[in-house]
Amino acid sequence: MLKFLGRGAGFTDEHNCAYFVNGDDMVLIDCSMTAFIKLKKFDSINAKRIVVLVTHTHSDHISGISMLIHYAYYVWKKSVLIVAPSNDVLKDIKKVLSIEGCDDENVEYTLVTVDKSGLDFIIDSILTVHVPELEGKCFGYELLIDGKHIVYTGDTGIINPFVSRLKKGSYFYCECTYYPAGVHLHVEEIISMNEWFEENDIKVFLMHLDEEEKIEKLIENTGMQLVEVV
Ligand SMILES: [Zn+2]
Ligand SMILES: [Zn+2]
Repeated sequence: MLKFLGRGAGFTDEHNCAYFVNGDDMVLIDCSMTAFIKLKKFDSINAKRIVVLVTHTHSDHISGISMLIHYAYYVWKKSVLIVAPSNDVLKDIKKVLSIEGCDDENVEYTLVTVDKSGLDFIIDSILTVHVPELEGKCFGYELLIDGKHIVYTGDTGIINPFVSRLKKGSYFYCECTYYPAGVHLHVEEIISMNEWFEENDIKVFLMHLDEEEKIEKLIENTGMQLVEVV
């Protein structure tokens, strides 16, 4: 369903970044510098506009945004729409972009909150708990793409806000760590829900991985899978 430019956690070489095409838009969920560099190497991007849905402002999620805006403006000649999950996050993104010399009077981009985005595939942003420094500023997304109901966690230490959004047949993109960290979801916690996922025909895709091979081994006998990277 979603494709990925990277599926790694913060300390890996390819940071987590999902993407899909929606009409004239190419939509990214977050955009770190590693994701931007990968996107830049695409043979062609047919979309007229690049849209970035931001989950939170850790650098493995937003470090490529200002470069993307500059590159899209000067090289691709495409417009960029940045979507913040809340007003507070919007203010923080604006500050970062401003520090990075990304001024919407010089390069063309639009920064809005979900409700003002005009994107009808976004059902909602989902507030969650990740790290204390970004309390109240970490989100996932509930989406409806081509009739498929998608719940995407972003970085999160708790699973409940997302499980409560799942319904029969949902696609669940869930962050997952091998090493228990508190601020991320531990693989064993996700596996412990496997029976419930199967009963409800919920397809589980794991992302934002710290130890791919070890996690892959643990989920061998479940219906879960790692997201696919292009
Ligand atoms: Zn992260
Ligand atoms: Zn994070």
